[in-house]
Amino acid sequence: MASFTELVNGMKTTFRTGKTKSYEWRRQQLEGVLKLMDENREEIAAALNKDLHKPKLEAVVFEIDFCRNDLVDTMNNLKEWMKPEKVKKSLLNLMDSAYIKKEPYGVALVIGAWNYPIQLTILPLFGALAAGNCVLLKPSEVSWNTAQLLEKLVPKYLDNDCVKVVNGGVTETTALLKERYDYIFYTGNTFVGKIVMKAASEYLTPVTLELGGKSPVYVDKNCDYKAVANRLIWGKTCNAGQTCIAPDYVMCTKDVQEQLIQNMKTTLGEFFPDDPSQSESYGRMVNSRHFQRVKKMIDSNQDSIAIGGDTNEKDNYISPTILKDVKFTDSAMNEEIFGPVLPIVTVKDEDAAIEHIVSGEKPLAMYVFSNDKTVKDKFRNSTSSGGLVINDTMMHAGVMTLPFGGVGNSGMGAYHGKLTFDTFSHNRACLERELKMESLQSIRYPPYTEKNLSVIGWLSKKNPKKGGFFSFLGF
Ligand code: NAD
Repeated sequence: MASFTELVNGMKTTFRTGKTKSYEWRRQQLEGVLKLMDENREEIAAALNKDLHKPKLEAVVFEIDFCRNDLVDTMNNLKEWMKPEKVKKSLLNLMDSAYIKKEPYGVALVIGAWNYPIQLTILPLFGALAAGNCVLLKPSEVSWNTAQLLEKLVPKYLDNDCVKVVNGGVTETTALLKERYDYIFYTGNTFVGKIVMKAASEYLTPVTLELGGKSPVYVDKNCDYKAVANRLIWGKTCNAGQTCIAPDYVMCTKDVQEQLIQNMKTTLGEFFPDDPSQSESYGRMVNSRHFQRVKKMIDSNQDSIAIGGDTNEKDNYISPTILKDVKFTDSAMNEEIFGPVLPIVTVKDEDAAIEHIVSGEKPLAMYVFSNDKTVKDKFRNSTSSGGLVINDTMMHAGVMTLPFGGVGNSGMGAYHGKLTFDTFSHNRACLERELKMESLQSIRYPPYTEKNLSVIGWLSKKNPKKGGFFSFLGF
């Protein structure tokens, strides 16, 4: 196999030919991705099941069709999105044409994570292709079956000169990051996010960092406890809690905690009537390293277990586990849980919960359950996070017109829907003028005079809006 330098240089040479820029080429690639998804649904679902024991419904809804629907939307809108975007002008530019040209960056490196190994590679892949880039795709080695499947399928459906898949672990990714790209899109933990950003800084390569962290939940007394229990348990057990936007921990008052636990017991009995370990609707930890990490968390919080706490090393099984009366200083609160364990920390009121949130890192997602407008307003206006959902968990990720991404420690940049296309496009500022009426230009040329200064001032001056008849001209 060619060295990584040769691989990347080859893609750069191809990009320079300009072949990726036409609508036809982009459309062809998107059709290739669609075919890849449609002709291999079963194989993809099987690989996800091998990697994560991912239930069929989760594989289809959150990976295969999740990508497919966004892809079809991109195909349907591509021509429109590619069009130059006209911008407002001032009197000085009235005769000119000013517009933003959406340009591909060049060669994009896309590094995926293992928890949604199809969604986190395919979405940025087709977004980058739609924007006219070449893509070097690096799936996560942790979800190895899916990574191998991608390496096998991508060359069958996409332009081999412009799209490459490289599989491997830390060594390979470290080597890949030494190369020069025009864009880097990384999904994974914050620690590695910093490594990626450092590598990108060598060439001032723009980055999107889709990171993680602890996504908090507040449950107010003014709520429907059973609906809250259902929505929380769903968010925590989906993909066995290995979702970047999974509800990480709950804050509520002592009374609410008791109500919640009773309702969560009922919910778990309904979701997994026999036993979660026997259920086809429940996943597994991805590998023994992650199993041991979460088991250790349960073991060191034995006294707090209110529900669950069962584990089976043989198949990396951890039962849905609720921890009660957890302290902010307990080990379960030190790191992102990324497993099916939900600690509940009791607090005095919503203000105490907000105080805890704002004194830490900005989370990727935040969930507030309440029917009280004042409580909802407080969280919306006094905190910051990548996303905020009121009265549910995780559902914002499926609204493809909303940006998906973090803020601060939970990431930078966002994607989904048109934003993925925008992420991989450079907004080139274009101004086109005619070489006519040169005499009109003389006011900006030396020798500078007071008279010219006042004319320029008059022509370019902006005034606060009064909403008058000529306000559209900036008067
Ligand atoms: P991971 O282990 O699959 O790592 C992600 C990628 O980074 C892989 O391709 C891997 O090869 C590479 N990598 C790992 N260590 C590296 C190193 N030292 N140097 C260079 N590259 C390296 O995934 P993970 O980090 O365990 O993923 C889980 C984390 O990702 C959680 O924090 C989760 O919240 C976050 N996440 C975020 C999103 C999002 O969209 N914001 C989505 C999924 C996961």
